[in-house]
Amino acid sequence: MTSTPFIEPDLDFIAEIKSGAGPDLKKCYQCATCSVACTISHDDHPFPRKEMIHASWGLKDRLIANPDIWLCYNCGDCSTLCPRDARPGDVLGTLRKMSIREYSKPAVMNGLLNDPRKLPWLFVIPAVIILATGLLTGLMNLSPGGEQIVFARFFPVSLIEMIFIPLSVAVALVFFLGIKRFLKDMQDTYARLGKVDPGPIDVKAFLATLVRQLPAIVRHEQFSTCSENKGRKLSHMMVAFSFSSLAFVAGAFVFALYVLNSHGPYDQVNPVKILANISGLALITGSLMLIRERRANARQAGGKQGSGYFDWYLLGLALSLGITGMLTQFLRLADIPWAAYSMYFIHLLFAFNLVAFLPYTKLAHLVYRTVAVAYYHYVKEN
Ligand code: SF4
Ligand code: SF4
Repeated sequence: MTSTPFIEPDLDFIAEIKSGAGPDLKKCYQCATCSVACTISHDDHPFPRKEMIHASWGLKDRLIANPDIWLCYNCGDCSTLCPRDARPGDVLGTLRKMSIREYSKPAVMNGLLNDPRKLPWLFVIPAVIILATGLLTGLMNLSPGGEQIVFARFFPVSLIEMIFIPLSVAVALVFFLGIKRFLKDMQDTYARLGKVDPGPIDVKAFLATLVRQLPAIVRHEQFSTCSENKGRKLSHMMVAFSFSSLAFVAGAFVFALYVLNSHGPYDQVNPVKILANISGLALITGSLMLIRERRANARQAGGKQGSGYFDWYLLGLALSLGITGMLTQFLRLADIPWAAYSMYFIHLLFAFNLVAFLPYTKLAHLVYRTVAVAYYHYVKEN
């Protein structure tokens, strides 16, 4: 007698999706309105209807490493039109969050970053590391003195490098290991769903696809196709632009220091300084716009797009980085040394959060979404 295959639902998985996306997951009656409403869902590749049934059945192995969940930009169109309030957009958003948690190890870091009660630790830990490194090496000068406020006298660039270079290497390693597993699991998932033959990925062809997809990802093209939250494209792009241009500014200042032997503070009309100020303002404005949009969505009847601590932490971090960065500059220009140096230290704590916790926050989307979208297109093309 042959045994009949049966489905073993992962009940914890279902409970977690419900806690992130609302209790009405199982109200979905598979009408497929969501798949029709979604402008980036294709006839030969419809979603999110099938993801809804897989989620209701607790089929974690078909969802957690499924590239399709990363094609969604959480515009909310499907959730608005769903006749059962099953919130498919939020279900996919919760699955992406769970996917990040699955691949960004160690697990203890996910526990730290996903629990609002542990928020104080996200500042105590960096403060202890920064102060201990600064004071034990003797590089940090708590009374820098001098006629001018010079942050490098208080906290030298060599000290920043001593802390942030090892952190960046550790973050790159976490991503490397996570992406390696993610790629393997995406391949297994597609093989299970009958979309690919399991076999080694052609790394060269995959990287070529990834490079081809980058411009569309950077331009946030998918946002333009959604109707409900089209406005989010501008705020998203402002925040993305400011993060990348601030990274460029940091690189330019390091280049000026080591190659041109030029020390700050720089003139306000210096082109790099102007770019830094524009980026800082874009970061604050973009973050405030995103916060306003999320609050407006939450206020609407039924809320077409849910927001959790995972979303608010990143928005709060982006806004705080922008505000403390600008305040640091204003206090230096106002020549209030104790306030300027204190604000600079607080800004460093936020910068530490941004770099060290990158693989565990919503910013990890940038990496996982890029890889998943590239893999989806790689499979289509090969
Ligand atoms: S999630 Fe809503 S719109 Fe989509 S299939 Fe289920 S009931 Fe229909
Ligand atoms: S949230 Fe938007 S992009 Fe995502 S599945 Fe729904 S309609 Fe498609």
